[in-house]
Amino acid sequence: MGDLFEVRKLAPGVHVITELGQSHAYLVEGGAYAALIDTGLGIGDIRAVVEKLTSRPVVVLNTHTHWDHVGGNHRFEHIGVHPAEADGLQHPRLSEASQQYLRRLQENGHPFPSGFDAKRFQPRPSSATFFLEHGQEIDLGGRVLMVWHTPGHSPGSVCFVDEVERLMFAGDTVYEGPIYLHLPGSDPQAMLTSLEMLSQLAWEINLLMPGHGLTPTDGRLLQEAADGLRRTFAGEVPLKKGVSIHSAVRVTSFARCMFFLPTDWRPPQSGTPAAG
Ligand SMILES: [Zn+2]
Ligand SMILES: [Zn+2]
Repeated sequence: MGDLFEVRKLAPGVHVITELGQSHAYLVEGGAYAALIDTGLGIGDIRAVVEKLTSRPVVVLNTHTHWDHVGGNHRFEHIGVHPAEADGLQHPRLSEASQQYLRRLQENGHPFPSGFDAKRFQPRPSSATFFLEHGQEIDLGGRVLMVWHTPGHSPGSVCFVDEVERLMFAGDTVYEGPIYLHLPGSDPQAMLTSLEMLSQLAWEINLLMPGHGLTPTDGRLLQEAADGLRRTFAGEVPLKKGVSIHSAVRVTSFARCMFFLPTDWRPPQSGTPAAG
């Protein structure tokens, strides 16, 4: 039996807070403020965990607004999100498939609060109090996080980069494991463009801290993901049949990366895929 939240220090002033072994949130402390990058599933009280780690005022920065990253938002006052997903905070929704997924976790002995009922669980709404734009610098006092808009997994996905400490917080844009490009709002072509942009940073980033899976990992994962998706678009990687928690998918995998694509997705016919 573990705790609902697992906390580990990954770098000076950086903790990962993992809820039920599923989603990573990161507390990043500057001299004046602390940023909480994503807020978990919303099943436990992440604010209580954060308040044990820092006494600084906390600003929530969301990498995107899928329910497993914004669950604890409603416990905080200051929330930044990319404008493309501001509506997502007001109407968070957990699909039946995701509820069943939670139920399976519960049956497998994960430490849910007593009386938790996955069938009734729905995330609480919250509202953005400010917007995150590409190139914006968020100054926490002696530590700056740069916003990179990286649509693909979702339209308002962003990554945060601490250039001095060479850290990246990548949300669901890059991690080791299946990255979802088959969801409503996902855009494989936009993801390719985002990964090609991020791959410039592959040798600059020492610690890559994603929303799921192994953390920290390294910046070379950005290059592997970009190369693999580019080869998938060129038709060089065979697509396999697979199943996500939501639906049937096509799977492309290479090195440490894997992407789930819609079942009707095909590599573009021409060498230069149409923008979309
Ligand atoms: Zn997501
Ligand atoms: Zn996620």
